[in-house]
Amino acid sequence: MDLFEHQGKEFFAQFGMPVSPGEAAFSVDDAVAAAERLGTPVMVKAQVHTGGRGKAGGVKFAADIDSVREHAGNILGLDINGHIVQRLWIEKASDIAEEYYASFTLDRSAKKHLGMLSKEGGVEIETVAEENPDAIAKIWIDPVDGLTEAACRDWVAAANLPDAAVEGTVAIMHQLYAAYTEGDADLVEINPLILTPEGNVHVLDAKVTLDGNSEFRHDDYGQYDETQPRDEREEAAHAKGLQYVGLEGSVGVIANGAGLAMSTVDVVNQVGGSPANFLDIGGGANADVMAGALEVINNDPNVKSIFINIFGGITRGEEVANGILEAMERVEIDSPIVIRLDGTNADEGREILRPKLNDKLMMEETMLDAARKSVELAS
Ligand code: GDP
Ligand code: MG
Repeated sequence: MDLFEHQGKEFFAQFGMPVSPGEAAFSVDDAVAAAERLGTPVMVKAQVHTGGRGKAGGVKFAADIDSVREHAGNILGLDINGHIVQRLWIEKASDIAEEYYASFTLDRSAKKHLGMLSKEGGVEIETVAEENPDAIAKIWIDPVDGLTEAACRDWVAAANLPDAAVEGTVAIMHQLYAAYTEGDADLVEINPLILTPEGNVHVLDAKVTLDGNSEFRHDDYGQYDETQPRDEREEAAHAKGLQYVGLEGSVGVIANGAGLAMSTVDVVNQVGGSPANFLDIGGGANADVMAGALEVINNDPNVKSIFINIFGGITRGEEVANGILEAMERVEIDSPIVIRLDGTNADEGREILRPKLNDKLMMEETMLDAARKSVELAS
């Protein structure tokens, strides 16, 4: 779950991190009212789930209320990397002496948390990594040990920040690590972390990705989920308890088991087609589940053919065949269906399907042939 900057800052503030006061706004009038309450100067900031907002014109300094009105009008509706701005964050402007970068994420190959700190903040960390890799101080943290005081100090020292920034940065790195671990985040990033002319270290931007699987431990994470852009097809599928991921292509895919569903997506691509989705109906393939799956796929206007790929393990072929036929009676399907049925009692299942085959319901012996057939029908 990606958080908007302002949600990330609220999240950080819960761990004691210094962030600027601000208010979310959904219209120009909202923005003006917020700026009046906060007092100018303020920053007018686009809230979108993508970075590089500053470069795209989505972060503006407003010295007075007239400029708040002007900037808010320009930024609302702006397209930033394909994300249309629908909300703003109006924040009390800070004075900046220096900009730094700080983050924690998981280094899977090291099986440790990775902290990165750089005195070259404000620009993309990928650019710093490419052009001046020595400017990034890294720390690998064993999750069992956590971030010790001594290790944190060594790490901050390695980043060569000016003396004035050291104490504040050490404190914020501990808080950031707590937010990352206790908050069950996959990524926490501050870019820029600033040093003000008065010598305070302060959080100016927040990028947070929470681990959606941890939602059951955090009563307040539901609020973030609502703001995720949703694929209508995915919502319908998840409501039916199906494991579904929407894709861009024209071959609807239904398979039992996540591994087979992924292979099915691959084989459709391999023969030159493009899958409309990933859909795993799970172990069984009864009429209820199959009808739900067919309904979701049939409602996708991009779908031109449907590839049902079932390998019977515990589920027997004749159950699958009967399930498919019963589901087809319940849902009116627009696109032709190609079935590949294999595994336990596949012969019995195929015998049940054979008399029902026509130009809307086809069967192929192998996964590859079925993929070819469904791709041919989709084009
Ligand atoms: P991003 O472009 O999406 O990463 O958005 P940021 O929130 O990082 O803002 C981009 C840049 O705008 C920062 O690197 C700062 O240079 C500048 N900026 C953001 N907030 C302030 C502020 O309060 N005061 C000043 N002077 N500049 C700011
Ligand atoms: Mg930034």
